[in-house]
Amino acid sequence: MHIVLISTPIGFLGSGKGGGVELTLNSLVTGLLAKGHEVDVVAPKNSKLLDASKKVKLHFVEGNEQKSWQHIDYYSSVNIPNNSLLSGMIEKAIAIGEKADIILNFSYDWLPIWMTLNINIPIAHIISMGSESFVISNLIANVYSKFPNNFAFHSKTQAYDYPFIVNPIIVGNGFNLDNYIFQDCKNGPLGWVGRVAPEKGLEDAAYVANELGEKLNVWGIIQDKSYALKIEKLFSPGILEWKGFLETHKLQKELGTCRALLNTPKWNEAYGNVVVEALACGVPVVAYKRGGPSEIIQHGKTGFLSEPNNKESLLRYLKIINKIDRKDCRKWVENNASSNIFASKVLNWLKTVIKEKQSQDLP
Ligand code: UDP
Repeated sequence: MHIVLISTPIGFLGSGKGGGVELTLNSLVTGLLAKGHEVDVVAPKNSKLLDASKKVKLHFVEGNEQKSWQHIDYYSSVNIPNNSLLSGMIEKAIAIGEKADIILNFSYDWLPIWMTLNINIPIAHIISMGSESFVISNLIANVYSKFPNNFAFHSKTQAYDYPFIVNPIIVGNGFNLDNYIFQDCKNGPLGWVGRVAPEKGLEDAAYVANELGEKLNVWGIIQDKSYALKIEKLFSPGILEWKGFLETHKLQKELGTCRALLNTPKWNEAYGNVVVEALACGVPVVAYKRGGPSEIIQHGKTGFLSEPNNKESLLRYLKIINKIDRKDCRKWVENNASSNIFASKVLNWLKTVIKEKQSQDLP
């Protein structure tokens, strides 16, 4: 198959601004290339792919970024800036897509989804968030009524945010396991990984570390500086150890030394890449039973699922974290979330989208 991928219009690949979508796209590229497919990636200028292979064609587009929908009012209208990066990326993808089998869109935005109704090339969408915009959710409902196969989700819980979707297509997510080394360190520090932004709930993890009188290692881009400062002021100095945003190879090396990862989202996390990345290194996860992590973590085997927003329960689970066999964590990822498994699920889905488009195009 020849597939054209449209990246997120929020930050270049490798910037961290695009969140989990950046790694998801990278893993899919790895999986598709390994299976012998042809891949073009349309992405913002300066983007870098994790496994730089000569086989993938990376096309750069310049322009003004979109704002991320999770930081905009839910009922806001769609805003497209002058010299829009997103529309530039769509134009380029359509030009390349004329000779391809399908376009696969990773950007959570109105324009690419609306294009489904207006171009002849099949275009499929991996929806990367729960419902974060009234306008986009309504558009998905409208497009879905005509193209019911064109949307896939990372988890069932995420898809429940779109109640009009019947039997949602769930593709999970995938990770190139060669990039994650298993480490058997039972007595390491506590870790937290993610964009530092209110929806990620860093304050609850910091509370737990503070109660234990320990440092919390925090890896990730500080997306909301005032939020980060606010949390810092809430706790004793030195509780938060800001480690910055690291590229995957370095991140996994440091993350693998942790005895546990805390995952404390306040929103309906679509998947939770960082949960699986920790597991891939052998690090058990204590998370709120909310969104994707609630479908990933096997309670008592690869970590613990705490009642959402209950910090005392997080604390209780952390105290028994050494009951988890770190090898079981890695094993789960190998059996359920490799880039190969992910690519297979996506390919099966894309075949249905192409078939449906062909049958609709018949005179
Ligand atoms: N990440 C990274 N380096 C860091 C911290 C985070 O590359 O130092 C990446 C991580 O690998 C993951 C992403 O940031 O892919 C966060 O994705 P997740 O699905 O957990 O949350 P999202 O940001 O999409 O809400």
